[in-house]
Amino acid sequence: MISPMKDSIPFNKPFIIGQELFNIARAVIENSALSGDGIFTRSCQGWLESTLGCKKALLTHSCTAALEMAAILCDIQPGDEVIMPSFTFVSTANAFVLRGGVPVFVDIRPDTLNIDEDRIEAGITERTKAIVPVHYAGVSCAMNEILEIADRFNLLVVEDSAQALLSKYKGQYLGSVGHIGTLSFHETKNIISGEGGALLLNDERFVDRSEIIWEKGTNRKAFFRGEVDKYTWVDIGSSYLPSDMIAAFLYAQMEAADKIITARRRIFNLYCKLLEPLTDNGLISLPWIDKDNISNGHIFYIITKSLGDRSRLISYLRKKGIMAVFHYIPLHSSPAGIKYGRSSGELRYTEELCDRILRLPLFYEMNDEQVLRVTEAIKDYYVRECLR
Ligand SMILES: *Cc1c(COP(=O)(O)O)cnc(C)c1O
Repeated sequence: MISPMKDSIPFNKPFIIGQELFNIARAVIENSALSGDGIFTRSCQGWLESTLGCKKALLTHSCTAALEMAAILCDIQPGDEVIMPSFTFVSTANAFVLRGGVPVFVDIRPDTLNIDEDRIEAGITERTKAIVPVHYAGVSCAMNEILEIADRFNLLVVEDSAQALLSKYKGQYLGSVGHIGTLSFHETKNIISGEGGALLLNDERFVDRSEIIWEKGTNRKAFFRGEVDKYTWVDIGSSYLPSDMIAAFLYAQMEAADKIITARRRIFNLYCKLLEPLTDNGLISLPWIDKDNISNGHIFYIITKSLGDRSRLISYLRKKGIMAVFHYIPLHSSPAGIKYGRSSGELRYTEELCDRILRLPLFYEMNDEQVLRVTEAIKDYYVRECLR
């Protein structure tokens, strides 16, 4: 192990934007309530509903939890199939497997690393219930095409928007495009509360049931609204509500969301500008964002020429105190993916690009000088490589 250098550049760094700790104190002292569904929880949900334009938002303790709620809402039964990319985080698949569902893995597009919409139809069978597009790096999947397929085959669309808060597709915020959306506020995402997430309902049909699932399968929420006279167990559910302390922290970040996203986009754009020269001679390629998208600057990655090239670059950067990391081991080749899922067609780009992608440091407090240090180190590495 190399001990961290004083001026090393981490891959990610959690941050405080301003009012987080003050809000937590207020939750305790002024509101005298720390359990779920408190004042700050409602403020966060209100912010999500008015900003993103979803019908209903419910805070959860993670995006994983929101995906599990989505799987219940889709009424996944043992053997039902769910189409998703293999190049994603385990929770995308796990949530459906917990209900007995079968993930059907489809290849990604080499340009966006998102599910290839042209390969979805081939994966559909009589058992297919839903499609789960994952907006990798905060860049949108081809939602128009995906919604059209879903409509034709009568399928539900659950957007895994864990990375995509405040990204837009054709003017619409991601997470509010499909029937259901899920968000993450994990410390590695753009807007954070350590662990945290939200379920977004864009279809009126799911609103009442989602509140019941959220409240351990009870009609507690309807009871407090005076809509029913008994508070009782009515459906399956679990404890999906975060403490209002988490919401207090999160609300401070939501209020500063523009500032956070602007900072990340600045870093993203600076990386693009400084690394552009390396693409001319084909040493690396950069993320591609088409005209339908406005991205939230969640991840900045480069695509190296090969696995060997990437491994050497990672160690070179590490020696310079720069933490760059690769990403997903494809789910279809993981032990649980083999056991619980199946692939539809070849997953050529998934297999090829997972070996070549390299994510560079990107965090709210990162300054231009640090970005320059990273890009200079990458350029130095390629100068040495060319002389090898
Ligand atoms: C981070 C992430 C998740 C999981 O989010 P948690 O809040 O940590 O549960 C799910 N899907 C994707 C695509 C993610 O990036």
